[in-house]
Amino acid sequence: MHLIVAEKNISAHRIAQILAGGHKVTEKKDAGVSTYSFGDTTTVGLRGHVVEVDFVPGYENWRSETYTPRSLIDAKTIKVPTEKRIVSLLQKLARQADGVTIATDFDTEGELIGKEAYELVRAVNKNVKIDRARFSAITPQEIRSAFANTTDLDFALAAAGEARQSIDLMWGASLTRFISLAAKRGGNNILSVGRVQSPTLTMIVDREKEIEKFVPEKYWQLGLVTEKSGEPIEARHTNGRFKDQKAAELARDRTKEPLVVIEVKEGTKQDRSPSPFDTTTYIVAAARLGFSAANAMRIAEELYMNGYISYPRTDNTVYPASLDLNGVLATIRNSPFKKDVEWIIAHRRPEPTRGKKSSTDHPPIHPTGIATREGIGEDAFRIYELVLRRFLATLSPDALWQTLKINFEAGGETYTVTGGRLLEPGWHAVYPFSEAKETLLPVFVTGEKLPIRKVNLDEKETLPPARYTQSKLIQRMEELGLGTKSTRHEVIQRLVSRKYVEGNPLRPTLVGRVVTEALEKNANTITKPDMTQTIESHMQQIKESKRTRDDVIAESRSMLHKAFDQLEANEQEIGEDIRNRTAEELNLGRCPACGGTLAIKHMRGSTQFIGCSRYPECTFNIGLPVTQWGWAVRTDDICDKHHLHFVRLVRKGARPWDIGCPLCHHISSNAESLTEIPSMDEALLEKARSRHIYTVAEIARSEPDQLAQILGLTPEKAQKLKSEAGTVLEKLRRRSECRKFMRNHLIPRKGRSYAKIMEALGKAGVTDLASLARANPGTLQQAGIGEHEARDLLTEARITHNSQLLKETGIPAVSLKKYREAGIGGPDDFAAAGAAKLASLTGMSTGTVNRHLALVCEYLHRPVPVTLPKARLEKGRKELLSIKGLTATVADKLIGTGVFNAETLCAADAHKTAAASGLDEEKIRGYQAQMRKKQENAIIRI
Ligand SMILES: [Zn+2]
Ligand SMILES: [Zn+2]
Repeated sequence: MHLIVAEKNISAHRIAQILAGGHKVTEKKDAGVSTYSFGDTTTVGLRGHVVEVDFVPGYENWRSETYTPRSLIDAKTIKVPTEKRIVSLLQKLARQADGVTIATDFDTEGELIGKEAYELVRAVNKNVKIDRARFSAITPQEIRSAFANTTDLDFALAAAGEARQSIDLMWGASLTRFISLAAKRGGNNILSVGRVQSPTLTMIVDREKEIEKFVPEKYWQLGLVTEKSGEPIEARHTNGRFKDQKAAELARDRTKEPLVVIEVKEGTKQDRSPSPFDTTTYIVAAARLGFSAANAMRIAEELYMNGYISYPRTDNTVYPASLDLNGVLATIRNSPFKKDVEWIIAHRRPEPTRGKKSSTDHPPIHPTGIATREGIGEDAFRIYELVLRRFLATLSPDALWQTLKINFEAGGETYTVTGGRLLEPGWHAVYPFSEAKETLLPVFVTGEKLPIRKVNLDEKETLPPARYTQSKLIQRMEELGLGTKSTRHEVIQRLVSRKYVEGNPLRPTLVGRVVTEALEKNANTITKPDMTQTIESHMQQIKESKRTRDDVIAESRSMLHKAFDQLEANEQEIGEDIRNRTAEELNLGRCPACGGTLAIKHMRGSTQFIGCSRYPECTFNIGLPVTQWGWAVRTDDICDKHHLHFVRLVRKGARPWDIGCPLCHHISSNAESLTEIPSMDEALLEKARSRHIYTVAEIARSEPDQLAQILGLTPEKAQKLKSEAGTVLEKLRRRSECRKFMRNHLIPRKGRSYAKIMEALGKAGVTDLASLARANPGTLQQAGIGEHEARDLLTEARITHNSQLLKETGIPAVSLKKYREAGIGGPDDFAAAGAAKLASLTGMSTGTVNRHLALVCEYLHRPVPVTLPKARLEKGRKELLSIKGLTATVADKLIGTGVFNAETLCAADAHKTAAASGLDEEKIRGYQAQMRKKQENAIIRI
């Protein structure tokens, strides 16, 4: 069997379809992984990398004394499968294969992915022939030719990829650990540092500092409006920007009619057609259409894998001679852009345009197939159209402009106006994405005199440099040699997800800035692009087999050790610096109660809240939902009323939850419960808030004297308020317990809202577990709970409620469990059962059972029954066993119903005892008769 390994499932499918050439392709699934077979050939797709490089075991613990962050530099690495099902299927197929072709993407990353597949195949099949197919587009022509001319895997290219992987892991892991530990951060909150990431972040931080330092300067612009053939024409003063206001005003005042045309300059200007797309210019053009860098790349990759465009990761801006441009035109002639393609065929320039960079791996991005809007969806089609039109533009003739410049004079001041007219639209005819704006001017003649309708003097200010947009940043990264065409957009994405930068254009966050500055101060090799550029040039040397992978990694190790020398010497300072400065990002403003600082506090586990810096003197705090609902951060918005920063909960993959002003939120979410306190009227509520009392709990827990003083109440009224608050608090507690019970026992369903169910139940008087346990199924059904569910829920509620009540009596949990298992319900059931039955059912000693019985009776305010000593129980059992035909089993059953000796047997109701014990009623009557006879005999004997 011939096995073909593609980079992705979708490319495996397409390659199979192309190579099958009309024969049927059979899809099979093995553990969820698809294979595509025709004849003797099977294709399988990877998921990019199916293994990853990781450190050998032992380095997992960040706080290990032996395995310090620095030790990661020299740590050994291994490859671990990340896609186990794909790996095992690949190896299963490889065992049966008599030939394997690696058909992953053709670049460094693809070669490395191919090498990983190569190693997995070799591990199970020593001798099978493995070759490599290279192609830049998944089109029939390219694929057939690639498989007809297979070569060997390029191990040098793969080694460059491997070196990059190892170096990135080593730099990222050791530095991230070092900085996070120094700043005492862990878990969700680590501070990541990376080889490409940190210099990129530094660029954004530096730009922000430039903007902050920028002092705007005033300048003045002078212009006038004249008129020709009824059309207003605006002309600018030839001075451009006046730095001096006086001079500008003087020029304005001198500008007097007539306005004389002193010169008319006519000319033409060539407007060159754009050069072919490489990754960066493509991302920039897509950004103009509103696509983020990551999105633009994702869509382009999909289009590539479906055969619509060529490989989108390329540095090449020159079409190679091997690319059949006529063939491409012929292919896209039947696309929805037929008219434009035919225009190009008729007007094609002799040679296509070329950019500055020529490389051999892939051609510039160009269309390779026909896509339709209906077939691929709106966004993908817009990208397809962009790529297709760009291709057409590179074959279009240049555009030609007619330019016109008119110079005027008025009172010795000179003005000018320029116009442009598109004589030949050229490439603009097929590429509407870059605007060709015409300014048409009427005909002027030298010496002509014109009126002045208006003179405008505008005061303006110079602007700071602009923040980087994603696409500008990618361009700049490319100029500096930071990252590769494949990774740049991912690096930016990581900076965003690490909360180092935000917005578009990109702005550093406080953490992003603090980490950058700490690194700059203490180990600036990490923040400068030089080191990364050096490594990139080493990669190139590996590709050209001028250096080995190990050699390059070793050099990188020593660079990193040098950085660590500096970092470790300043560890404490770095840590304190980051901690002190980032603390600010959690500060929300002044504590309303004491004037201290309110800040978001993240505790161990998932607890988070807002607390005061003067704790424990000031206990003011605001609760926040647990972190499962989102990690609390502050935003730039500030409450007009409370002057506090807004709070937002952010969760990966979910829309952020905006809490807004935490104090406004706190007040409104507690308003309802406060009004449940009977003596809380509007005036008192207002007063309480003005004294920073916002919750029922605060009132319930305060000292009556203090409460009286704070709220200006008599001691009696304060006492009353406190006790009422206690009652409301207890009610709230029960209500929330009931809500929790519902959440735990009602399966979530689409369209079902717990809040709505609780509201309906509340109206029916069911607000806590006790009332739920007493409720009837009809009430629950009316609240929207199904019949079966209602019955189960009620049973559960009764059990839970009963065991809660029993718990309240003070019976320890271990014993409670035994009673529950014996089927004893609440305290009433317990008391009714009696000690003998309880002891028999649970196997606990009578002494223990007696103690529990006493607790329950006290709880129920009932007289505690006389306790049964063990001796008495044993004596009673003997009495029972003395009856003829009453076996030990029967005795136990009787005791289980509270019949434990001669006396209780004689007094028992035979019918009830039979029902409770499962014994035959007649037999019980027989035992009773025997016992009575025995007792009579005993009396007679006396
Ligand atoms: Zn405070
Ligand atoms: Zn507020």
